[in-house]
Amino acid sequence: MAGLSPPARNLTMLSYLQARNKVIEEVGKRNAPRAPAAVSVWDALGLVLAQEVKTDREYPPFDRSTRDGYAVRSKETKPGAQLKCAGEIKAGDTVRESLAAGSCLQIMTGAAVPAGADAVVMIEQTSREGDLVRFEQTAQLGQNIVPKGSEASAAQTVLAPGMRLGYAELALAAQVGAVQLECARRPRVAILSTGDEVVLIDETPGPFQIRNSNSVSLAAQVRIAGGEPVVLGNAADRIEDLGEKIERGLKEDALVLSGGVSMGKYDLVESALKAMGAEFFFDAVAIRPGKPAVFGMCQGKPVFGLPGNPVSTMVTFELFVAPAIDLLSGAEARALPLVEARLAEVMKEKPGLTHFLPARVEWRGGEPEVKALRWQGSGDIAALAKANCFLVVPADRENIAIGESVSVLLRKDVV
Ligand code: AMP
Ligand code: MG
Repeated sequence: MAGLSPPARNLTMLSYLQARNKVIEEVGKRNAPRAPAAVSVWDALGLVLAQEVKTDREYPPFDRSTRDGYAVRSKETKPGAQLKCAGEIKAGDTVRESLAAGSCLQIMTGAAVPAGADAVVMIEQTSREGDLVRFEQTAQLGQNIVPKGSEASAAQTVLAPGMRLGYAELALAAQVGAVQLECARRPRVAILSTGDEVVLIDETPGPFQIRNSNSVSLAAQVRIAGGEPVVLGNAADRIEDLGEKIERGLKEDALVLSGGVSMGKYDLVESALKAMGAEFFFDAVAIRPGKPAVFGMCQGKPVFGLPGNPVSTMVTFELFVAPAIDLLSGAEARALPLVEARLAEVMKEKPGLTHFLPARVEWRGGEPEVKALRWQGSGDIAALAKANCFLVVPADRENIAIGESVSVLLRKDVV
């Protein structure tokens, strides 16, 4: 029967950056984000904004004191000068009167600076006896005052479509009174594991069966990436079952499969996708783990065939699926969280593929230092659960000495 053996790899093997860029290019080209919905500012963390947010007035709305102290005319504050304190202004007070010449007003942080005053002197730089305030130095014009409108003018756009809403963005929306925000809906990402040996996580596996841990890690990774996981369960290594479940998956915004993309006789994911009309952009990437990763578009939806070994699944998701979810959310693809670190132990790796090794980075005295963890290869979830990053060994490196600078890909969920 046609399609029962895996297709020969006929696409050129890409580097991981080429493969990632391919995903960004293709998904960026074809996918409009889903229709937005109004979300309360309390619930919008991590969503992507689909509207402009403008200020409702100037910010700050008045000349604001940034210190507890005295509002003064700067030229009246020579070292040793004394001014009579004519009253006080608290944060929130309505300020109508201007500062009379030859006097000062006690003022609190966040209060409005009165007309006539052009500086605030910190209380620590003054001394007081009764109503008389003595100054130690000449105040600088404008010191400790944030002028009205200097942070933003009225009706200024402060948040734009495509921005991801973190805590600062949410605070800004709240500040300007934007309590409901039009946000892109989270893309729905179908997750389908494959393999005759795979059983539900709440089943007791037979001696040669394994629990479906990939669906759990993929659902978590989809959530972290800003998507909504739709877990479809497991397909047997049969083209008919794969076809049926892939068809279901294609109803969502993207489909991620695990397993069934290697060169074995029962690795049928690529054939099944092809039978559904998929066009492939890569089916091999020069990385370990994760080499047989597949990416294509099928019926207008991005589809990813990730190798089933759990660590391969996790690495290839971070490299290739996460940027697609960004784009499907209406945002730009975020950069990989790569940092440079000092290697703490010599390494010897086989050249030819870029390696992503479970590792721990520690910040000793502020300097990142990284050590690869011992592991049994790409099935070793326990090693990855001890890791907070992947040490990236470039394809052309064989021996790396202690102290050399290497790249590490942070595990954003734990670092
Ligand atoms: P495959 O990519 O299908 O050749 O699978 C490679 C390895 O990953 C095999 O040892 C599988 O048993 C394992 N594996 C495949 N799917 C899963 C899954 N859903 N959860 C955990 N391990 C899996
Ligand atoms: Mg399999």
